Amino acid sequence: MEIRNFVIIAHVDHGKSTLADRLLEITGTIPARQMKPQYLDRLELERERGITIKMAPVRMLYTPQINADSARTDAENEQGNAENLLYGNITYKIRAAAFEVRKNLGLGHKESVYHNALAQEFGKTDLKFETEKNIGVFYDGKKVGSYRPDFVIEDKIIVELKALPEIGRPQTEQLWSYLKGSDYKLALLINFGSKELDIKRVIYDTARFQRNSASIPRESAQVERYMLNLIDTPGHSDFAYEVSRALLAVEGAILLVDVSKGIQAQTLSNFRLARQAGLKIIGAVNKIDLYPLRAEKTKISLAKLIGVQPEEIYAVSAKTGDGVKELLEGVVRQVPPPKDLKTGGDGSQALIFDSLYNDHKGVLAFSRVFSGEFSNDQSAVLLSSKRKFKIKETGFFTPDFKPVEKLSEGEIGYLATGLKEPNLIKIGDTIGSREAEPLIGFKEPQPVIFVSFYPTEQTTFEDLENGFKRLKLNDAALSFEKDSNEILGKGLKVGFLGELHFEITSERLEKEFNLEFLTTFPSVIYRVTDKNGSHFIKHPQNFTGDYFKIFQPMIKLEILTPTDYLNQILSLAKIFHLNILEIKNFSEDNLLLIGRMPLAELIKDFSDQLKSVSAGYASFSYDFDGEEAVDIGKLEILVANEPLPALTRLVLKDEVEREGRILVERLKDLLPQQQFSQALQAKAEGKIIARETIPAMRKELGNFGKNGGDRTRKMKLWKKQKRGKEKLQSMAKVKISAEIFRELLKK
Ligand code: GDP
Ligand code: MG
Repeated sequence: MEIRNFVIIAHVDHGKSTLADRLLEITGTIPARQMKPQYLDRLELERERGITIKMAPVRMLYTPQINADSARTDAENEQGNAENLLYGNITYKIRAAAFEVRKNLGLGHKESVYHNALAQEFGKTDLKFETEKNIGVFYDGKKVGSYRPDFVIEDKIIVELKALPEIGRPQTEQLWSYLKGSDYKLALLINFGSKELDIKRVIYDTARFQRNSASIPRESAQVERYMLNLIDTPGHSDFAYEVSRALLAVEGAILLVDVSKGIQAQTLSNFRLARQAGLKIIGAVNKIDLYPLRAEKTKISLAKLIGVQPEEIYAVSAKTGDGVKELLEGVVRQVPPPKDLKTGGDGSQALIFDSLYNDHKGVLAFSRVFSGEFSNDQSAVLLSSKRKFKIKETGFFTPDFKPVEKLSEGEIGYLATGLKEPNLIKIGDTIGSREAEPLIGFKEPQPVIFVSFYPTEQTTFEDLENGFKRLKLNDAALSFEKDSNEILGKGLKVGFLGELHFEITSERLEKEFNLEFLTTFPSVIYRVTDKNGSHFIKHPQNFTGDYFKIFQPMIKLEILTPTDYLNQILSLAKIFHLNILEIKNFSEDNLLLIGRMPLAELIKDFSDQLKSVSAGYASFSYDFDGEEAVDIGKLEILVANEPLPALTRLVLKDEVEREGRILVERLKDLLPQQQFSQALQAKAEGKIIARETIPAMRKELGNFGKNGGDRTRKMKLWKKQKRGKEKLQSMAKVKISAEIFRELLKK
């Protein structure tokens, strides 16, 4: 069976997962009655939030549907969108001209009369057409003659005219034969002689003919089945690492662009990643049901980005399914078959691009087999760590886990390793049937922000650590190390690729692993120099302020925005210390802004603010770009005169006072009320710079009174509240959710 491996990539919300739904339907992978929107978003959290977090592989079986003489009549497509067709726009103009001729001339003329009239009509359009072009006819590789079609339009479409009472298979087959000997893909057969003007499209299906060039077109029994391995990917920049790994497992990519949004920053950065990975990129514009009029413009800009003709861009509605079949045909035809990446040495090799822990089968390594095959009970070895194991099960994704006898070259599936220690398996490692050099690995992701996690309630440190280890199997971007704090005890310092990554990870640990913990303020890493040399401060609490110099990480940022929002973005740039270095025209009404800014500013709500000042149209992507000296100080929050370690953060010296004030004001509303009032203070450089009071929980106490008041109970309560030490400890362990931190980080 032929194999095609491909991903769908796009900016967030442009419709990747919805397109995947349609592909699952067309291929019959998921029966219609079981279908639900964004079927591949299977994590509870993905469904709740409506975003894709994880890449999702799935295998589909597909039989190409362009069969027999491949002639689809235009009548079938008349109501449809011209953009869904191969060279739809040109075809549309040709049809219009033919209808005009037929309307004016009517029935009963000779072929040459229609020919001359049509040439006149073409002359009124912007279509480039030739009438004298010869197309070679080949026999056994030698030219044996030539054929001159009535018209060749835009050097893409052959047009053949007839004036017959009716046309059928002999005529379409004749055209098919001509196409076969040429580089053209599409011929139009226009018959002026029948009662209704008849236009047939004859498409030459290269994929089929390369395999069986001797067969005559109508032998549909020769049509092959394809195994299609699709990987749906997340579109948010925090999860770009997921995308980059998926790209190494495939040969092709559908690059999808929402016509209402146009090309956005992640469209660009995902496109570049796919290019670098050497993938065949197939462009498609989506949501044409919503904005049919914008399809054309979006096609043109996407074609320009990819470097193809606008006619080669597919137009689809992932919602209604319009044009999706044609796109899938395009994938089958254009994506190359699997390539062999073997690095040397004999034996089978498979690249691990993701993994998951299973209680019974150990670590499941999601793999792309690059050479040879793997089967159940076979012995295998992890090529980097040289750890040997026996394969417990091989299988593919439905997207559930479906066991199968073996996985062969070119296929994507999973290998159950039986290994129970999550540490042993590294994403990017190669599984081999014997020792050899590993295949190309993945670049280690670079964490952007750091947060410390401390266990609370029933959760122990070991639970927490184990939870992280298992989650790391399914989230290769996570990195963590041991950490401890006087008040909070043993914990883990964890690196994340962005705020959303932090938020999602916290929720997954709570929901999927039932862990309870508190976290500290998200912070970037600063490098400091002092008399002992240079070292890193990953923990705001460890910051003493006693340094020669402090350096902060910088990023290079690319913002893609409609021209209309330039001014709003420039004012935002001031607030976020973003230094705009260059403004380029990206397309007719879009600008590409290139700038540099501190990473610490990005983790504030830059992303939300950019969206809100641009009505959701501007988007950005970034890369690390060295470091820069900075003047920062430590800002601490005290409750009842005791510091709350989770809330310590490092802020710009000029902003310390303002930040301190804002922080205590916001905290007053966000912190849980206690049964007594408490002082809330912000402290910087030994001085209290702001103060608020968290009011007592009056309402509840009041209730005691209203109910007639059980005086002894009330007294007991007061007594309890006086146990000062306990009070302070419980206060120090106040849990602040990732969401609250996000609130607090806002400018
Ligand atoms: P993803 O983030 O790229 O995976 O995007 P989703 O597939 O989750 O789609 C984002 C939103 O766009 C969802 O609300 C979809 O229902 C909607 N959507 C996707 N494709 C289409 C389409 O062709 N037409 C319309 N009207 N809505 C669509
Ligand atoms: Mg999605």
